[in-house]
Amino acid sequence: MDVSFQPTAPLQLLGLEWAMAICFVALGLLVIFLLIAFWVYQDAESRGMSGILWFILVFLLPVIGLILYLILRTERQPMGYPPPPAPPPVAPGPPPAPVASLTCRQCGASVAPGTAFCAQCGSKVV
Ligand SMILES: [Zn+2]
Repeated sequence: MDVSFQPTAPLQLLGLEWAMAICFVALGLLVIFLLIAFWVYQDAESRGMSGILWFILVFLLPVIGLILYLILRTERQPMGYPPPPAPPPVAPGPPPAPVASLTCRQCGASVAPGTAFCAQCGSKVV
C-alpha cells in the first residue's frame, strides 16, 4: 500500500506566482471599483444626491449598486430633458430722444432738432 501520496493544498499546487497573480487581479478590480464609485460620487453630487452614500453603496455592491444608481438616476432625470429656462426678455432700448419727435405746438409741423423756432409758423418751439 502506497502511503507516500499526500494531497497537497490547492494554493501549494498553484504556486506563489499564481497567488500573486490573483492578488494583482483583485487589486486591479479594487481600483476599477474605486474609480466607478468615485464617478458615481461625483455624478450623484452634481445631481444634488447624497454622493457619499452612493459611493459606499457602489463600492460595497459594485454591480448591484451601480445598476441601482443608474436606475434611480434615470428616474430622477426622465427621458427628455426639461425645457431650458426661457431667455430673459430683451432689455428695452433707451427711449427715443425727445428731439427726434419734436413738433411745433402751434402748427404741428416737425421741427428739426436744434432749431428754436418753427420753420413753418415761426413760433418758439423750445
Ligand atoms: Zn409751427
